[in-house]
Amino acid sequence: MPHYILIYILVLIAGASVSSFLGIYAFIKIKHAPGGKYFCVAAFLAAFFAVTYAFELMSQSLTDILFWVAVEYVAISFLPAVILLMCLDYTGRNVKRWMYIPLLGIPAVTLILHWTNSFHHLYYSSVGLRTDTAYPLANLEGGLWFFVQSVFLYFCMAASVCILLWQLRKVTFRFQMQILLMVAGLLVPPISSIFYISGWSRGIDLGPVSMCLAFLLQGAALLRFQMFDVVPIARETVFEGLEEGVVVLNENDIVIDYNQAMKTVLPALTVHTIGRPLREVISANEQLASILCQGEECDYKLDQPEETLHFQVRFTPLKDKKGEKIGKIVMFINVTERVQMEKQLQKLARLDGLTGILNRTFFLGQAEAACRLLQKEEGVVSIIMFDIDHFKRVNDTFGHEAGDRVLTSIAHRVGKNMQANDLFGRYGGEEFIIFLPHASLPEARERAEAIRTAIAETVIQLGEETLSVTSSFGLSHMRIQAGSPDSPVQELMREADQALYTAKRNGRNRVQVFKQAL
Ligand code: GH3
Ligand code: MG
Ligand code: MG
Repeated sequence: MPHYILIYILVLIAGASVSSFLGIYAFIKIKHAPGGKYFCVAAFLAAFFAVTYAFELMSQSLTDILFWVAVEYVAISFLPAVILLMCLDYTGRNVKRWMYIPLLGIPAVTLILHWTNSFHHLYYSSVGLRTDTAYPLANLEGGLWFFVQSVFLYFCMAASVCILLWQLRKVTFRFQMQILLMVAGLLVPPISSIFYISGWSRGIDLGPVSMCLAFLLQGAALLRFQMFDVVPIARETVFEGLEEGVVVLNENDIVIDYNQAMKTVLPALTVHTIGRPLREVISANEQLASILCQGEECDYKLDQPEETLHFQVRFTPLKDKKGEKIGKIVMFINVTERVQMEKQLQKLARLDGLTGILNRTFFLGQAEAACRLLQKEEGVVSIIMFDIDHFKRVNDTFGHEAGDRVLTSIAHRVGKNMQANDLFGRYGGEEFIIFLPHASLPEARERAEAIRTAIAETVIQLGEETLSVTSSFGLSHMRIQAGSPDSPVQELMREADQALYTAKRNGRNRVQVFKQAL
C-alpha cells in the first residue's frame, strides 16, 4: 500500500473520531436546540462515511471495494438532506411535512438504485478498476440517477448556504461569525470535489475527509459561538413579536434594524432602507423627522384612513463596553387604546349618557366659569329650566324605553335652537336647563317661547304610534355688576325652579318669568 494512501487512511480515522466526538457532544448538550438533532445525525453520518471509505481504500479486490462503496452510500445519500434540514431548523424556518418527501425520498431512491445497480445500471453505467493507478481504486462511470443525486447534492448545499447567508443579515455580530463559520464548513466539500474531479487527489475521493472537516468547522462554531444557541432565534422572535415599533439607529442615524410593528409607523421602511440615513427614509414626514431629530420622549399622532393611532415615542441610547454612545433605539409604543379610553372618560365626565347633552355637574361648572368672565365687566344672564309635562304618563303608557326615546328626541330638538355661547344640559330626570349669557330678558323670553313651541310641535315616532309632549318653563334673569364677588348661578337656578313650579301650577305648557326679574 503506497504511503500516501496509508496517511490518508489515518486522516480518515482521525476525521471520523472528531466527527463522532462532535456527534456525541451535540447529542448530550444540544439535541433540543434548533438544528441540534440534525447536527448529531450529520456528524455521525460523516464519521460513518470516513470509516467506510477507509475500508474501501484498504480493499484489494473490486468485489470488496464495491461492498464498501455500497455501505458508504448510507451516509452519502442522506447527508445533503440532513444538512439542509439542519440549516432550516437552525434558522427557525418551518419544515413542512411535504418537504420530507423529496428530502428523504430522493436519498432513499439513490440508496436502493445504488444497491441494485447490477440489475439496471441506472446509477453506474459501468463498474471496473482503474488502470492508471498502482493501487486498486474503483473506476465508476455515473449513470442517469447518479446525475440526479449530484444535482440533489448541489441543490441541498447551495440552499443551505443561501439560508444561512439570508439569516446573516438579521443577526448580531456574534451570530454572524457563527453563521460564517457554518457557511465555511459547507463550502469545504464542494472545494474538495474540484480536487477530486481534476485528478489532483490521485484518484482518492476527498469527500469523506472534507465532510469531517466541514463538521469540524461547524463544531468550532458550536463550541466557540454556541452555534445552536437559541438566542438568535429567540431574539428575532421577541423583536419581531413586539407590539411596539422599534427602529435601531447608529450614531450617525443610519437605520441598522427595525421590526415589523415599526412598519405601521413608517411604511417606507424596507430591507433596502437598512444602511440608509433615517432622514432620507422619513423625508416625506416632517413631523416624524423633527421628533426623531429632537430625540426626546414625546407623543406622536398618526392619521390613518380608518383610525387615528397614538404613539408614545421613547429613546434609549446604545453604548459600547467603554460607555461610548454608538447609537440609539427608538421605540413607538402604541397608546391608542389608552388615549381613546381617556377621551371616552372625559366625554362621560362631561356629557349625559342618555341624551348626549351636558350633564348637571359639567353644566354648572361651565355656567360658573361663564359668570366669572361676566363679573369682570358687566352683563346680563338668563337661565331657563324646563320640565316635560306629565312625563310619568308617557312612561306608564308606552314604557320606560319609549320615555327614553322622548327624552333624547327633545334634547336633540332643543339642541338645534342653541347658539354659540349657550349651555344646554340635563338637570335630572325630565328636567333640562339652559344658560343664556348676554341675552336681555325679552330676548331670553322669546328664546324660551321658541323652544316651548318647538317641543310641542315635535312629533316623536314610537314604532307604529306617534307622540307629542309639552313642557313647562321657568325663566330667571339677572344683571351682573362688575366686580361683584358672588356667583349668581345658584340663585338663578333657584329662581328658575320657582318660576317653573308656577308654570306647572298655572296649567303647564307655558313660560313663567321669575317675578323679581320682571
Ligand atoms: P309634571 O307634569 O308635574 O312634571 O308630571 P310628571 O309626570 O312629568 O312628573 P313626575 O315628577 O311625577 O314624573 C317624572 C317621571 O320621569 C318619573 C320618572 O320615572 C321619569 N323619569 C325620570 N328620569 C327618567 C329617564 O331617564 N327615563 C325615563 N324613561 N323616565 C324617567
Ligand atoms: Mg314632568
Ligand atoms: Mg320633573
